[in-house]
Amino acid sequence: MVLHLYYSMKIDDLYALTSLFKKYAQNPQIQQDAELKSPNIIVEPLNPVISKAIKLLQRMDPNYFIGARKIVITMSPNYGFVQSGPGKDPAVININLSRIIAESGGNLGSPEAVLAAATTIAHENGHVRSYNESQGFVGGEGPAEAEEAKVRSWIESNMNRLQDIVHA
Ligand SMILES: [Zn+2]
Repeated sequence: MVLHLYYSMKIDDLYALTSLFKKYAQNPQIQQDAELKSPNIIVEPLNPVISKAIKLLQRMDPNYFIGARKIVITMSPNYGFVQSGPGKDPAVININLSRIIAESGGNLGSPEAVLAAATTIAHENGHVRSYNESQGFVGGEGPAEAEEAKVRSWIESNMNRLQDIVHA
């Protein structure tokens, strides 16, 4: 019985790995890209609110940023954006942090700013994960909104074990 359970688990792992390999095989650029395979994420420029948001997302899933290249703090008409096309990298998450801070109460150190940054990053990471070289960002806002909702609901049910991050 124990052996059987063990075997089932190994088969599931194998399926997961196989689909992961297939995903990489479809995109030779990704296959050779160490930044995308790394669970760490670069932030430009470094910022304490974004660092806390990253910590929070990695507590939910240590591999949350596999597939993403970096988070760039920038201005935009929205809270964040991704882009593809000539000279653009669809694995870059752009975040309009000043707007997020302003609209979450204007306090750099507030938990609200960290939570708003985390759900914005989650939304944009939903777009990054939906990218496909031949079809672009598949599903439009669908996968981004789904990812944002998933993370928001995880945060709400795990608030008690996120206090050390949001109040740091
Ligand atoms: Zn979006």
